[in-house]
Amino acid sequence: MEQIIPDNRQNQVDDPDKVAEYYRLLTENTVECIWLLDLANRKYKYISPSILSLRGLTMEEAMLEKMEDSLTPESMALVNKLTEERLARYFAGDRSPSVMSGTNDFQQYCRDGSIKDIEISTRYVPNPETGLVDIVGVSRDITVRKRLERKLAGEVAERNRLIEKLRLSEAEQIRLSGELRRQNQKMSAVLGKDELTGLYNRHFFLQRIREEMERSDRYGNPMSIILFDLDHFKKVNDQWGHDVGDRVLQAISSAAMKRIRKPDILSRWGGEEFIVLMPQTGLASASRLAERLRVMMAELLHETAGRVTGSFGVAEHIRNESYEIWFKRVDVALYQAKDGGRNRVAESVSQSCFNPVAIVRYVWNPKWESGNAEIDGEHRRLLDLANALMESAMASLQNETVSQRLEHLLSHIQAHFVHEEGILERAGYLEYHAHATCHSELLQKASLLMNSFKEGSLKATELFSFLTDEVIIGHLLKEDVKYFPL
Ligand code: GH3
Ligand code: MG
Ligand code: MG
Repeated sequence: MEQIIPDNRQNQVDDPDKVAEYYRLLTENTVECIWLLDLANRKYKYISPSILSLRGLTMEEAMLEKMEDSLTPESMALVNKLTEERLARYFAGDRSPSVMSGTNDFQQYCRDGSIKDIEISTRYVPNPETGLVDIVGVSRDITVRKRLERKLAGEVAERNRLIEKLRLSEAEQIRLSGELRRQNQKMSAVLGKDELTGLYNRHFFLQRIREEMERSDRYGNPMSIILFDLDHFKKVNDQWGHDVGDRVLQAISSAAMKRIRKPDILSRWGGEEFIVLMPQTGLASASRLAERLRVMMAELLHETAGRVTGSFGVAEHIRNESYEIWFKRVDVALYQAKDGGRNRVAESVSQSCFNPVAIVRYVWNPKWESGNAEIDGEHRRLLDLANALMESAMASLQNETVSQRLEHLLSHIQAHFVHEEGILERAGYLEYHAHATCHSELLQKASLLMNSFKEGSLKATELFSFLTDEVIIGHLLKEDVKYFPL
């Protein structure tokens, strides 16, 4: 080719024969098929030899072929449409590039009947003889490219179909999961269960606790509750998100569920607060369970949130005590556990620091019988005086009257202690001295508190608390019972 093709940078070849020779060589040696068509009579003036490799036809066969036989019907329709549009514009005087030239894809038959994708570029050349145009065309085989394009388009369509399917199934999933959720909510409500944790809900718990309270009041069985609340749980949500918080609530619930005994009722009281009702259980056992739950929680390592501790309040029900007072007590105990630094258990040991109206009378308990009639008589009198004192507070009597009754109670306690000490000494009670010291310490504290009360720096409830917790419950029940066997 080097000797044949002229260098464009040099002057062009002048000899017309040489030029014709160059062009013949060019057209006969290009891979694309070059042709010239007289549009007026739809006859080819020239078709280059590569028509053979393109469609398997010899030049002679191709020259005689009718255009409509060479194209698929769809491509023929396209040729007609495009030609019509271009010619209309051509006759209207339009000679713009989009009229004078164009490139389109068609499908043509090969000699063996197969179909090839062929890209045809055409250029209009005005023919003064016919008054129409001749068309110079270049046809190139694009079957491979088209096959890839179709394959790609098929894959894109398939992908889009899958995306659409997924989108629809997602919508369906959302619809179904909503339905499932509603169904679960209904079921949980019917079963008295909390949906998130699967524990009993507050409504169910309140129903059960009333039944248990009735039973306990009737038969005098002990009964306790544990109220616990997760520590700094807001931080867990703030730091890790609500979903992580939810998972912590679930993990703690199921771990706690495994620790409680069969008759106990664990319930989600609300938010991150839980409650355990323990029928037939006194304060000490309830506190032991609370401690076990506390340790369990403190040792539990959550996947994202790490350690989440809890604070616990425990309260045993006092016979005939109202539900409200009992709950108030356990709530205060929980508050004390929080106040004391969290991750701990606090017990409610007395009911006396709450609304005095709700305080029940102290009722003589047969367990307190010492066996000595005189001492028992004095102990009973102690209760009566304490009850009288509380009655005066309940009736909101003047401080004057409350003070008088207090003094009365104190002087009785004093006389009783002297008398009791005498009896114990005579009986040769080994712990006599320790017991007597206990008495004098109590009296000392009592008179100090009495003075503060008179000055108004001590609330009646605090004094009552001392009298009931330390004197009546603490001393009578814990110290005195030691000499009862004597
Ligand atoms: P404290 O130790 O004093 O109890 O601190 P705290 O942060 O736990 O207390 P606070 O009452 O301020 O916050 C309780 C948090 O519990 C706030 C609330 O977003 C979160 N909470 C309540 N119910 C749920 C629940 O169902 N899921 C989640 N993830 N968080 C809850
Ligand atoms: Mg909390
Ligand atoms: Mg809380």
